[in-house]
Amino acid sequence: MGSGYRELKERAWAANMEIPRLGLAIATFGNVSAFDRAAGVMAIKPSGVAYPALRAEDLVVVDLEGRVVEGTLRPSSDTRTHLVLYRAWPGLGGIVHTHSTYATGWAQALRPIPIYGTTHADHLAEDVPCTALMTAEATARDYELETGNQILEVFRTRDPHHTPMVLVAGHGPFTWGGSVEQAVYHAQVLEEIARMAFITRTIDPGSARLPEHLVRKHFERKHGAKAYYGQK
Ligand SMILES: [Zn+2]
Repeated sequence: MGSGYRELKERAWAANMEIPRLGLAIATFGNVSAFDRAAGVMAIKPSGVAYPALRAEDLVVVDLEGRVVEGTLRPSSDTRTHLVLYRAWPGLGGIVHTHSTYATGWAQALRPIPIYGTTHADHLAEDVPCTALMTAEATARDYELETGNQILEVFRTRDPHHTPMVLVAGHGPFTWGGSVEQAVYHAQVLEEIARMAFITRTIDPGSARLPEHLVRKHFERKHGAKAYYGQK
């Protein structure tokens, strides 16, 4: 490939290819970026390229100011949203945006996803938050940048490392992680808990949230200082 960013682009490419494989997007929907903090650059899907045609060398390397460092294609139209999050939150290694069906359903209903069960609590200890709908003024100003700002607004009172996902109202989900592979995993988890919550609410619209002691137990056995889930 003759690239200084070969490994980053290959990881970003592999992560992008997981999105259709996992049923999280069709056609050209969605985009994944992988971030190299030491180099201060991300590799992101090019705009409007369908997944089957996507090659690792097509990934576009962009710095934190949005300048293309490597690549001949235009980066994803959502590039500025990704950059807002990488600039604001140290420790992110990847970001995923999809229009996965159930998560997008909740986003379109402008509803946070209630924490109904332990599958949800294993990954985050609160409802999946949903942003406000964007105003006409913000939309006209800089839509993709403002999408990032709306996500930051939701996280003024939250830790993005504890809640690695959000619904953008009327649009769809963004997820992230310490690595791009973890960000993809969170996109898959989000879709599953969105689907489970839809089913729960369909069975009983009055379903109660999981009690706090069970939320804490499940979240902390995987994430807390005393985590003990899984192998050492
Ligand atoms: Zn979108």
